[in-house]
Amino acid sequence: MSTVPERSVLDQRELDDSRMPYQLPFPPDAAEEILVGGAIPEDERVWVPQAEGLHFRPLLLHASQGYWCNLLRVRRTGIVSRHRHPMPVFGYVLRGSWHYLEHDWVANAGDWLYEPPGETHTLVVPEGVDEMITLFTVNAAMVYVDPWGKTTGFEDVFTKIEMCRKHYAECGLGADYVDQFVR
Ligand code: FE
Repeated sequence: MSTVPERSVLDQRELDDSRMPYQLPFPPDAAEEILVGGAIPEDERVWVPQAEGLHFRPLLLHASQGYWCNLLRVRRTGIVSRHRHPMPVFGYVLRGSWHYLEHDWVANAGDWLYEPPGETHTLVVPEGVDEMITLFTVNAAMVYVDPWGKTTGFEDVFTKIEMCRKHYAECGLGADYVDQFVR
């Protein structure tokens, strides 16, 4: 006789709970979340120059995990770099198109890609592409090499942070502008 009202009280509680924020504290060691408003920035100073016609925009510089997420923007045609990946890379093309000399596919806006550990490839932006922007998540490092695999340089999350600090100090945003992306 009393089962019907009890049931409806329970349903009401479940409904209320479904709209309720999580009530407990996050783990004390959890990092702070990031929302990057306008990932493709209006302010040109946010783009960090890397070489002629080549910029990156930091989104997450994960020092404690050794990886970074950034937008790569290329406004020149031809070879961008030849590099090896010791760890996986994930990419999502937002604008333009590009390809690797070592593969027969072309990455176009809207395409997603996976670069497995052990890949060495040479990034090319073809004639007729004014601008390419690709979201890359790069684990561990980019190891720059010659065609025979001899190392000519490298980048990791720490060199990325350093480049950002230097550029943001020089352009007036302030060296600590980069801190919001560092975890
Ligand atoms: Fe790559």
